Amino acid sequence: KVVTRFAPSPTGFLHIGGARTALFNWLFARHHGGKALLRIEDTDRKRSTQDAIDKIIEGLDWLGLDYDDAPVFQSDRTERHAEVAQQLLDAGHAYKCYATPEELEAMRAEQRANKLPMRYDGRWRDRDPSEAPQGAPFTIRLKTPQEGETVIDDAVQGRVTVRNEEIDDYILLRADGTPTYMLAVVVDDHDMGVTHIIRGDDHLNNAFRQLPIIKAMDWPEPIYAHIPLIHGTDGAKLSKRHGAVGVDAYRIEEGVLPEALFNYLLRLGWGHGDREEISRAEAIELFDLKGVGKSASRFDMKKLQNLNGHYIREADDARLAALVAERIGPDADEQLLTEAMPVLKPRARSLDDLAEGAGFLFATRPLAMTEKAAGLLDDQARRYLAEVSAALAAENDWTIEALEATTKALAERLELGLGKLAQPMRAALTGTTTSPGIFDVLVLLGREEALARIDAQAT
Ligand code: GLU
Repeated sequence: KVVTRFAPSPTGFLHIGGARTALFNWLFARHHGGKALLRIEDTDRKRSTQDAIDKIIEGLDWLGLDYDDAPVFQSDRTERHAEVAQQLLDAGHAYKCYATPEELEAMRAEQRANKLPMRYDGRWRDRDPSEAPQGAPFTIRLKTPQEGETVIDDAVQGRVTVRNEEIDDYILLRADGTPTYMLAVVVDDHDMGVTHIIRGDDHLNNAFRQLPIIKAMDWPEPIYAHIPLIHGTDGAKLSKRHGAVGVDAYRIEEGVLPEALFNYLLRLGWGHGDREEISRAEAIELFDLKGVGKSASRFDMKKLQNLNGHYIREADDARLAALVAERIGPDADEQLLTEAMPVLKPRARSLDDLAEGAGFLFATRPLAMTEKAAGLLDDQARRYLAEVSAALAAENDWTIEALEATTKALAERLELGLGKLAQPMRAALTGTTTSPGIFDVLVLLGREEALARIDAQAT
């Protein structure tokens, strides 16, 4: 049975790259009817914060990634990690190293000076621990194989080989008895029954260091899938200077719907032909590791916005109205927003676009005008508005069809193109020069408010 895990270190927000790793793990588990697990790697007590944990869980939840068991907190498991270190020691797969920090620093300085690779030289590997001073502090190091090579058949990277001499005898348990990241990850993955390790390819090197522990413990080897990192449009690793990199920034500042980010992250590094729009259900049905590309993908805000526009058009009006109302604040009327959604949706690519488009509904008189709108309202336009006002005031049937017919009839009578009336109407009704269809606007505002706005500009 397939078991995957997402294992974030809670030192900040949920990064867009982390979210994609989480998504791939989740989809792989769901595709195979397996288990998706969450492990919070909070062993770095100084950098891990409760706020970061909350933000990560909130972000995953918002994306709709659910987990099959309660999250595992790595910090709860230090005793177990120490126990495995002890087992490795007892079985001769690990040894005590009494080298002092100063001694190790001198070793590294010499390696640096001689331009040698910086790695622990194994000075206590074959030494008798009784040579150490009584009660001296020690670390426990893994006795890694010195000859031959280690091969990983990575599900994304293909076959990768590393010579064992390149892997030093690294620390499993520190002198204060705390486990290192390398040990903790391996023990937790084993104990959680993880079968597939899907993570960023910045961890590929770690896999070669983690595998010797797995082999020494005679545990089943997991399948690794190291996925390429996400780059910005300039080809450099995605970072703050490319813009928002946290999932909550997309939710809050960019006004992105979770299903849009879900779809976008899926497409970022995974493909199924040239399909762009893939629903959640289809993603579960189609996801596989074969479709994950080997090269880094580029984050493209335009594509995300286009997908967001697609999902906005598909989304339920009442749901959108609630989300947009949150953005507008206490002035917003959710009922009215729901009614307006069908005319606001077609051009919007973010919730902010919707909020902006809906602005005229909640504006108060005297209406604030954009410069362009004000420019349209010259004397001539104001006289037309007086005619419009008179014609519409006589209209009893306040519907799109009736209002359109009346306005067209007026334009004909005045021997004008409809635009000559519609443009000043738009300016007077919305304070802008772009808005939904002018008859939609009239209906949404209602007779009284619409006429009041027109009259306020008419002469
Ligand atoms: N906690 C690690 C990170 O956030 C991931 C470890 C792993 O996936 O093995 O980068």
